[in-house]
Amino acid sequence: RLSKRLEMIAEQVPVGSRMADIGSDHALLPSYLAEQGRVSKAVAGEVNLGPYQAAAKQVRDAVLGSIIDVRLGDGLAVIEPGEVDVITIAGMGGALIATILEAGKDKLAGVSMLILQPNVGESFVRMWLLEHDWVLTREQILEEDGKIYEILTAVPAQLTEITNEKVYESRRVGEGIIANEELQLKLGPYLLQQPSSVWFLKWKLELDKLEMIRGQLAHSSLQESRSKEQIIEAEMKQIKEVLACLQ
Ligand code: SAM
Repeated sequence: RLSKRLEMIAEQVPVGSRMADIGSDHALLPSYLAEQGRVSKAVAGEVNLGPYQAAAKQVRDAVLGSIIDVRLGDGLAVIEPGEVDVITIAGMGGALIATILEAGKDKLAGVSMLILQPNVGESFVRMWLLEHDWVLTREQILEEDGKIYEILTAVPAQLTEITNEKVYESRRVGEGIIANEELQLKLGPYLLQQPSSVWFLKWKLELDKLEMIRGQLAHSSLQESRSKEQIIEAEMKQIKEVLACLQ
């Protein structure tokens, strides 16, 4: 059985797609999609030998080798331009996901959907998408086994009528606060419009983390720590205001 997180990613892969799952580990996602007859072809990419071998074994054991190709390589280097329609990258940091997309930009021509699930640093992913003319079409948030995950789905600007101007348009949040592009890159433009209890929990936990860092900085007499403390205080104030407005 797939985790709820991977199931939510799987649900979004259009039936009949050719997909690549980058950082596939045990190739659970492509195996599930292939078993269900939901993809016509899949590439499971892995940069590390151990997970690559685990993926290869999984595909062999499930007799899915005619659909899933397991390849060893860094990021999008494992695919050719035009080879797949959908790319999933899940279970790593947002900065790493953005680095993988940046390094493999030339492989994205012809790709019609990215489904990205950063564990942390979602804003790096949103920023990369925005700067490269990919439009966020959906954001989901879920809690599983005590962890909170976001799933970001994007399509190329030329394939959708939704524009990034519209997605990140400054909008009023609750009473009184205007969410600008910067705030939405952090909190999620869609998540912010329909904040769920999991989203509130995520940002409350984030505030706790920031408070801990602020407390540590407060013990230092370095000038540098003072300015970092001020930045964190401003960030906490902003998040608190948004949460208070929406609750
Ligand atoms: N995608 C699966 C999931 O969401 O359950 C596995 C996530 S696992 C925590 C992250 C995987 O990404 C690891 O197996 C790691 O080897 C792989 N990885 C990290 N950097 C990578 C890169 N640059 N290219 C391909 N795979 C990478």
